[in-house]
Order: sequence, then C-alpha cells, then structure tokens
Amino acid sequence: MEDCIFCKIVAGEIPATIVRETDDVIAFEDLHPQAPHHVLIIPRRHIATLNDLTAEDAETVGNMARVAAEIAAERGFAEAGYRTVMNCNQQGGQTVYHIHMHLLGGRALAWPPG
Ligand code: AMP
Ligand code: ZN
Repeated sequence: MEDCIFCKIVAGEIPATIVRETDDVIAFEDLHPQAPHHVLIIPRRHIATLNDLTAEDAETVGNMARVAAEIAAERGFAEAGYRTVMNCNQQGGQTVYHIHMHLLGGRALAWPPG
C-alpha cells in the first residue's frame, strides 16, 4: 500500500522507534504518546481495518496481543495493568488505516472511553 504510513514504517522508508520485530509483527513508539508507555503493534502485512480480517490473519492478530503482553512485562507494568485498544473506522476513532494495537501503560486509565 504505497500511501500507507505504517507500511512505510515496516519498509523502513520513514523513521520510527522500533521496540520489537518478529516475522509478522512490528512494534514501535507512538508519535503522540497518551500514557507514559504508548506502543503500537502492527502486522507487517497491510490490513486496512479490523473489518478486513480473514481467517488467515488469526495467528498474526494473536501474535500482536502476545507482543503487547511481552512488552508490558519487559517494561514492568504488566502486573499493575495496562490497556490494549484497536480502533475501527470513524466512530471508533481510527485515523491510520493499517490495523494497529495500542498498548497503553504506566498510569491508571479511565473507563469508559470518551
Ligand atoms: P488510531 O487513531 O487508532 O488510528 O491511532 C493512530 C496512532 O498512530 C495515533 O496514536 C498516532 O499518534 C500514531 N501515529 C501516527 N503517525 C505515526 C508515526 N509516523 N509514527 C508513530 N505513530 C504514529
Ligand atoms: Zn499499510
């Protein structure tokens, strides 16, 4: 996807602070952190929204969740708690149309979201 900013991060064409890379997933620091820890976990493969997932993506989405939990453990906030979020389409607040899991930690997070 030539106009996708996250595909460009996967390709190394624009900079990002990468925190983890696996065969099918990469994680990097969010440019505008909303918590002391705010990491985005994305599939290497371009998938525009959660609505576009197919059965063959199940392992990758599972790996995204596992990577989030591993980063939380490495950074020492797994036990205190954290939040993972995947926004979908306009009313869900999605602004980048390459699926991503937000990992937010390091402070108490309010619920429900706005
Ligand atoms: P969402 O609104 O759920 O689509 O989240 C998109 C997220 O991507 C936001 O938290 C942005 O701060 C973040 N973001 C946008 N561009 C970049 C970038 N070049 N590097 C890192 N994070 C980005
Ligand atoms: Zn993409």
